[in-house]
Amino acid sequence: MPHWSSLIREIPDFPKPGIVFKDITPVLSDARGFADAIDAMAAPWRDAVPDAFIGIESRGFIFAAALAHALGAGFVPVRKPGKLPARTLAHDYALEYGSDRLEMHADALPPGARVVLVDDVLATGGTLRAALSLARQQGATVVGAAVLVELPELDGRARWDSDAPLHVALQG
Ligand code: AMP
Repeated sequence: MPHWSSLIREIPDFPKPGIVFKDITPVLSDARGFADAIDAMAAPWRDAVPDAFIGIESRGFIFAAALAHALGAGFVPVRKPGKLPARTLAHDYALEYGSDRLEMHADALPPGARVVLVDDVLATGGTLRAALSLARQQGATVVGAAVLVELPELDGRARWDSDAPLHVALQG
């Protein structure tokens, strides 16, 4: 097990009863842990660096921005509604109770840009699937996804509606 993986802590019943929250902030505050986690997430993309890493609000921003800097790629934010200032594209998706929406700037990327989607945790896969739809709607070519931790018992991978690789640095 890599050193950084032992830094992820589980917080029971956050943000609501029954959820075991994977808190990755201790990885970020540990210089070696953060660097090694980014190295692990970056490894699959070193030989074919995408044009941009797309970070999903909010912890996805941290990892996507670090990956972009490490590999010499751009960074594009996918945000919750009403946060981005210029013209946006939106994708609505269903949650267990209710629905949610993700947005990105319509002009964030040139058509056909090769992008990798990034988030900290893959749970049910709904968020990553929504980001995939949004990036495709934008005209980008999604060449894969990079996630720090996958919760295999929730089978979020089954919702990854793409032949492109979904790389996770840790299953847990
Ligand atoms: P999902 O759409 O169910 O795959 O949820 C993924 C999104 O919710 C990611 O942006 C995660 O940051 C967050 N998330 C979901 N479940 C957890 C969890 N158990 N611990 C930490 N973050 C989570």
